[in-house]
Amino acid sequence: MIESIQKALVKYWGYNDFLPLQKQAMECVGHGRDSVVVLPTGGGKSLCFQAPAIVMEGLTVVVSPLISLMKDQVDALKECDVPAARVDSSLSAEEKRTVHTAILDGKLKLLYVSPERLVTDGFVDLLRKTKLSFIAVDEAHCVSMWGHDFRPEYRQLGQLKQTFPHVTIGAYTATATEQVRHDIAEQLHLENPEMLIGSFDRPNLVYKVKRRANKVKQVHEVLDRHRGESGIIYCIRRKDVDELSLQLKVKGYNVLPYHAGMTDEDRKANQEAFINDKIATIVATIAFGMGIDKSNVRYVIHTGMPKSLEHYQQETGRAGRDGLEAECCLFYSGGDYGTWKSLMSDMNPDAYEIAMIKLNRMYHYCTSGLCRHKAILRYFGQTYDKSTCAACDMCLGELDVMKDATEIAQKILSCILRLEQRFGAGYTASVLIGSADQRIMDNHHDTLSTYGLLNEHSKHTIHDWIEQLEGQDYIEKVGEFNVLNVTQKGWQVLKGNETPRLLKPAHKPAKISRAVEDSWEGVDKGLFEALRTLRGTLARKRGVPAYIVFGDAALRDMARRRPSNLITLLDVKGVGEKKSRQYGEAVLETIRNYCRTNSLPMDMNVSPETVSAHRRANEPEKQSNLSGPKWLAFDLFEQKRSIEEVAKSINRAPSTTTQYLVEYITREKISDPHPWVDEQTFGRIVDAIRQVGDEKMKPIFDWLNGQIDYPQIRICLACLRNKD
Ligand code: ADP
Repeated sequence: MIESIQKALVKYWGYNDFLPLQKQAMECVGHGRDSVVVLPTGGGKSLCFQAPAIVMEGLTVVVSPLISLMKDQVDALKECDVPAARVDSSLSAEEKRTVHTAILDGKLKLLYVSPERLVTDGFVDLLRKTKLSFIAVDEAHCVSMWGHDFRPEYRQLGQLKQTFPHVTIGAYTATATEQVRHDIAEQLHLENPEMLIGSFDRPNLVYKVKRRANKVKQVHEVLDRHRGESGIIYCIRRKDVDELSLQLKVKGYNVLPYHAGMTDEDRKANQEAFINDKIATIVATIAFGMGIDKSNVRYVIHTGMPKSLEHYQQETGRAGRDGLEAECCLFYSGGDYGTWKSLMSDMNPDAYEIAMIKLNRMYHYCTSGLCRHKAILRYFGQTYDKSTCAACDMCLGELDVMKDATEIAQKILSCILRLEQRFGAGYTASVLIGSADQRIMDNHHDTLSTYGLLNEHSKHTIHDWIEQLEGQDYIEKVGEFNVLNVTQKGWQVLKGNETPRLLKPAHKPAKISRAVEDSWEGVDKGLFEALRTLRGTLARKRGVPAYIVFGDAALRDMARRRPSNLITLLDVKGVGEKKSRQYGEAVLETIRNYCRTNSLPMDMNVSPETVSAHRRANEPEKQSNLSGPKWLAFDLFEQKRSIEEVAKSINRAPSTTTQYLVEYITREKISDPHPWVDEQTFGRIVDAIRQVGDEKMKPIFDWLNGQIDYPQIRICLACLRNKD
């Protein structure tokens, strides 16, 4: 079974290997074992049920909570030639009928439905009339009250085991604590399910956290690093979204806003513009993102601190779903803490308490100075076993750990005490740098012993340290004006019993993240850009989002391998057979032109395994006389390409290609040999046949005095046979 699944993976998606736990998850489906699969976003959950669905007899039903998610997945499947459909309220009666007929005729392999539709009597009756092979419950955390997105309609899925007792069920989610995992298994009545839990780490995400100083400048520095690439900017409030998108537009950035205060049409239009790459960046509240499967989001910026690490993980999780590196920048301030606190103030006391614990953990994450990957994993109860992630501001050396942190902290804390714990962070920092601010003069704070005590540092840096000390509980902000107070823990620092940790932006140039280096290795960036432009044109023509045509990972692999023909194009990760047929010629033309202009060699790192994997993937079809290069040739013959052109594209000798053409002519019952044989030659061959018959080719060849070659005679004979 797993071998057939692997063949399907190669043939339909162009992938040769499994991602972690994919194989085990697919084996469960194949062996009829219920399962709960928890993999991070981008971990390849969908393929865990899509690939087995193709090779199993019958239909796989996928339960999904949102129409947008279903649409996205079904569109992507169709692009790979997988017979898939969805039934939801956006379909017309006619469209629904067509899908129902396809189900009854056994023409579909995957069917996406909402949970509420799946359990209706009518739908159950329909499914009973067909062979149901498997049920996949996507976004399975929605079934649990303990999850962050409980949906009552998911609860009804508990009936499935009773309704279809012999059908295996798999539950898939990206976010599930142990409690949620067990709840999923229980609610769905899974039988002895295999629990497959992947790592929550997203090694391709590069996390950076900075205190917010000049928001617009900080944001456009990130945008400038990602010119033309897709990204999301999250703001806490709607008014921040409106303001920031306007400021960025004025500066010439191609952005659109998205928040719940806009009309449905405006929101939808902006979301579509983002998904279809008409604009690069969307500025949004967290209302944006659910159901967005866009794989090539290269950065997520938070202009304010989220209210929990769960939210942060989910929002940053929208970056880099294709496994390529993506940057996640968080600009926080102590003020965000206060904003959330006041936004949460009308919660019931129990919920408020939990929300505050989460908020504090989030704030600690910002200020802790720990490797960001390690900190996130620790929060989710997993351990991080590498010594450095090489993909966060800490491990990339973008921040220096201050050796004299205790001394600096003592100066700050004693300044707070000298100011009688009556002033905020900005004022305290001004006193410490020795500012000549009028207010300080009026208050005679220039006479304090701590005045100017840290004057070798900038006010911004000191403000930063105050936030860091607050994050480590040495300081607390009190009252309406966020006045600084020294905590009990802070007193221990003053006594020398506690050692705080303070960080400062490093002056040395930051290292490049490992994730970045790896995924660009060997990639010709100019060619990547040329292919990106081509992808945009193809997507517009087909009316689908660019990432559905090809993901960024596939484009980079093309620009790395630079295939010269359709066979070596199949070597590219993410190019399956349908895509190579559909877009192959256009891609090859772009690559050939680029390589010619730039004198670059082609067909780099061609692996015989991949080509033979594609051949193997086609073995079942060989029985119907269609092997890998042959079907490519057939497609090109259909486009009336010459034998020479086709031979070059499929990397085969002209004699083999002619053989394919003859097979194509026979199979398609073609009787006109044009354009492979011209009219006059055809006429002469027909005359010769009248004289010497069509049993053998040699007499025809001789009758024509050897002036017309055998391939042309063979083609004409094949065509004439179709005339009978
Ligand atoms: P999830 O649903 O877990 O977020 P997806 O199923 O959307 O993840 O997959 C994320 C990305 O990884 C997609 O672009 C998908 O095509 C790609 N992918 C999935 N499986 C593989 C594989 N075996 N090899 C390479 N890429 C894969």
